[in-house]
Amino acid sequence: MSSGTPESPSRRILHVDMDAFYASVEQRDDPNLCGKPVLVGFDGPRGVVAAASYEARAFGCSSAQPMSIAKRHCPNAVIVPVNMARYHEASDQVFSIFAKHTDLIEPLSIDEAFLDVSRICPSIDDATELARRIKTEIKDATRLNASIGVATNKFLAKLASDLEKPDGLTTMRPEQVLEVLGPLPIERIPGIGPAVAKKLHAIGVRSIAEIREVDVRVMKSKLGRLGGAVADRAWGRDDRPVTTDRASRSVSCEETFQTDVADRAELRRELALMSERLGRRVRKAGLQGRRITLKIRCGEFETSTRSRTMPTPVDRTDLIHEAAEELLDSWLQHDGRPIRLLGVGVSRFETDAQLDLFAQEAGDKQRRVDRVTDELVSRFGREALRRGASLRAPEIARDEDQE
Ligand SMILES: [Mg+2]
Repeated sequence: MSSGTPESPSRRILHVDMDAFYASVEQRDDPNLCGKPVLVGFDGPRGVVAAASYEARAFGCSSAQPMSIAKRHCPNAVIVPVNMARYHEASDQVFSIFAKHTDLIEPLSIDEAFLDVSRICPSIDDATELARRIKTEIKDATRLNASIGVATNKFLAKLASDLEKPDGLTTMRPEQVLEVLGPLPIERIPGIGPAVAKKLHAIGVRSIAEIREVDVRVMKSKLGRLGGAVADRAWGRDDRPVTTDRASRSVSCEETFQTDVADRAELRRELALMSERLGRRVRKAGLQGRRITLKIRCGEFETSTRSRTMPTPVDRTDLIHEAAEELLDSWLQHDGRPIRLLGVGVSRFETDAQLDLFAQEAGDKQRRVDRVTDELVSRFGREALRRGASLRAPEIARDEDQE
């Protein structure tokens, strides 16, 4: 790509993002919440805001904020607990609308995805028309609003979807790119967090346009490998394809404790519950992954992860649990500090063709057990679970999957 011009408009990409998703579902389902500041999340000392309605955002509330702070910003906010089952239901409806139009879908989260519509939309105007149709279909099916950005690459589409939120439809045409990006703060480029921003501020760079004036070699010496990508983004370039590839995804569950936990038996119980939940989600997504990761946070910020690569891809609760427990035990052996957050994840998903057939056969029996368990839970709730380690936990139904 020649420098000084935005990327050639060879792709048409949509970035679809539901507006204040969890909060909007709650407002849709309870008319009493309409027009009111709503915070979705756990109302306790360590609770975190999972979503804030636009009314609550006006008071300075935002997602990922500690609930205690959000309540200080907006004492009159209505706090509702997370109800993942209903958000998943709406999410499924939204994603099946995407699937009607293209199979090039890259999910970013439960309410957000990139769609590559290049094949079906020869021009950016066609892509805008399709985006309008998708917005209408989502509204008709779910009574929820989506904001969509239309552009020639992922970076620009994601930026565009945010420009006219909520209920926005924004097309960034190639000839507008440099002008639109120029005045934006550098923090709008993914990868530029506070630490990187500080380095760039130190050389007098605050806006995206100012990045363009810095020699790429200087950018690379300041930021390492990120430097090249940052320079590209400043010119509106991004050649990353929309990947539907399972290998790039990961599924995880984590839990922040009300008070730090040092008791090993309790940690093992939590881990068993989490592995159960994680296994269920991995199987529901039809995935099998090779890497199991344990995440541990002590105190406010100190997070460490440990991973194990499995000989064959797994989706079975017992194998996930076994690996996670080994990782936890090895952590506990050298570090006995109380734990604030515990998490477990599966990643490096592989397609079915790559599966070890022999291992699959050997696991058939356990897989049947898992299938029955999943069905029980979906029909009768988590209390129906009667599997070894989870049984002893007193508060099986306490938390919903938070993601
Ligand atoms: Mg969203």
